[in-house]
Amino acid sequence: MSQFNFDLLVIGGGSGGVRAARMAAAQGVRVALAEEKQLGGTCVNLGCVPKKLFVHGAHYREDFHHAVGFGWQIPDPPTFDWPTLRDHKTADIKRINKAFDKMLAAAGVELLRGRATLIDAHRVAVNGATYSAERILLTTGGRPHVPEFPGSEHVLVSDDVFYLERLPRDILVVGGGYIAVEFAGIFNGFGIKTDLLYRGDLFLRGFDRDLRSFVRDEMSKKGITLHFESNLERVVKHPDGCLEARLIDGRKMTAEQIFFATGRRPNTAGLGLEKAGVETDPSGAIKVDNTFRTSLPSIYALGDVIDRVQLTPVALAEAMNLVNRLYRNIDQPMDYDNIPTAVFSQPDIGTVGLTEEAARAQGYDVEIFRSEFRELKHSLSGSDERALMKLVVDKNTDRVLGVHAVGSAAAEIIQGFAVALRAGATKRVFDSTIGVHPTSAEELVTIREPV
Ligand code: FAD
Ligand code: NDP
Repeated sequence: MSQFNFDLLVIGGGSGGVRAARMAAAQGVRVALAEEKQLGGTCVNLGCVPKKLFVHGAHYREDFHHAVGFGWQIPDPPTFDWPTLRDHKTADIKRINKAFDKMLAAAGVELLRGRATLIDAHRVAVNGATYSAERILLTTGGRPHVPEFPGSEHVLVSDDVFYLERLPRDILVVGGGYIAVEFAGIFNGFGIKTDLLYRGDLFLRGFDRDLRSFVRDEMSKKGITLHFESNLERVVKHPDGCLEARLIDGRKMTAEQIFFATGRRPNTAGLGLEKAGVETDPSGAIKVDNTFRTSLPSIYALGDVIDRVQLTPVALAEAMNLVNRLYRNIDQPMDYDNIPTAVFSQPDIGTVGLTEEAARAQGYDVEIFRSEFRELKHSLSGSDERALMKLVVDKNTDRVLGVHAVGSAAAEIIQGFAVALRAGATKRVFDSTIGVHPTSAEELVTIREPV
């Protein structure tokens, strides 16, 4: 009989934690999972899933306009009822929470409801009870981070917007990453006057520069006002409730709400790491080696709390990698190459592999294949939205190093091209692939002339 209550105790029931617990339990391991809020974590409750539902909801505004060119008659203007979308979304999230509950129970995982803290290398406290485990896995995720400035208590973060009582008339979005760009599109789609403020010269740092400029132009065309190369210094609340943003360059902007999307920080505060002896880096992220082991050999961590790549499929892959190593005798390093990713802006971004700049910086002699066009639907929709498809190819080996797409289905398109890149496809293979017609994706196998 083991000296421990469990073989594995997971703290955090989000993407990584649930996957690790379920996979380990399937191997006959005695698993407990502690969760203080709702199962499913950020992705299900305050991230990917409700966000994507909002993206769909926001899209209808222009879809109704586009439909007129196809013969539909729609009341002008169509009306949008925020509480309906908000509450339908919440009902669906509750359904998913229940499904997670059932799934874990069916897998034989013991659910410990409550906030967990580490006591030492093998013990965890939850709701006043102490549990011991041979191994402990920390998958506590992250939370929105707002920099310190006067008036910061007045701003919203992503966690807030899923449950807003009512929508503001106008909003200022601060930040230039995934969340800022996606939510600027969502707010604009809901009919809110939207401004976005980013401190650099062009948002979406890290993405292909050409794609970033393209998305800037498309977002501007849709009515979002973009302000680059400035930042917010303070927020002042007026007696009528309106917020005034004072910028470092002396400008002032007013809006009913200000939404901060300036990155996330690992959820490590109050977890008992220091006392137990688990090391973190200066941002609070838990330090792990390439087997996800922390500075204490019986404690592991993965997902957003280690702050490598903050994406759900990455947390899932890390969880499977760890369980394979610990309980299935499959010891393979986690492979972070060619991770496809999408930004659900309007239009969508889908991207995998190296950007043109990164490929050049890594010393590749690159050829660029690029196509910019109007999608077929827009020949009747009346929209001037354009799409971009771009390939970065290594001239010496002909291997495709990067695929970058902007368009209505770019996020869907990129998944298949990610398979091709992982398989090491060359431009010749792309050229020999027959297109699917009429689609936007076919451009990626029919561009013949380099730029
Ligand atoms: P989480 O999912 O954050 O789970 C951590 C869990 O731990 C939470 O349930 C929390 O309550 C619990 N917890 C924390 N501390 C304790 C404690 N002490 N005791 C008990 N429980 C605790 N990724 C994508 O791939 N695609 C997207 O479209 C996408 N959209 C996003 C949109 C938004 C607005 C945000 C914020 C994120 C989005 N992400 C997206 C990122 C994705 O949600 C995260 O990468 C993913 O959820 C990380 O999973 P995780 O398991 O590491 O942590
Ligand atoms: P990101 O790290 O993507 O972006 C943060 C943005 O805030 C950057 O533009 C950054 O600027 C800016 N910023 C940081 N600090 C400050 C500051 N002090 N003042 C002004 N601006 C600042 O974080 P997000 O919050 O957008 O999202 C968190 C993560 O969640 C993402 O990185 C992504 O991994 C994940 N996510 C994934 C989604 C998807 O897959 N579709 C959707 C949403 C989130 P700079 O670039 O100059 O540093």
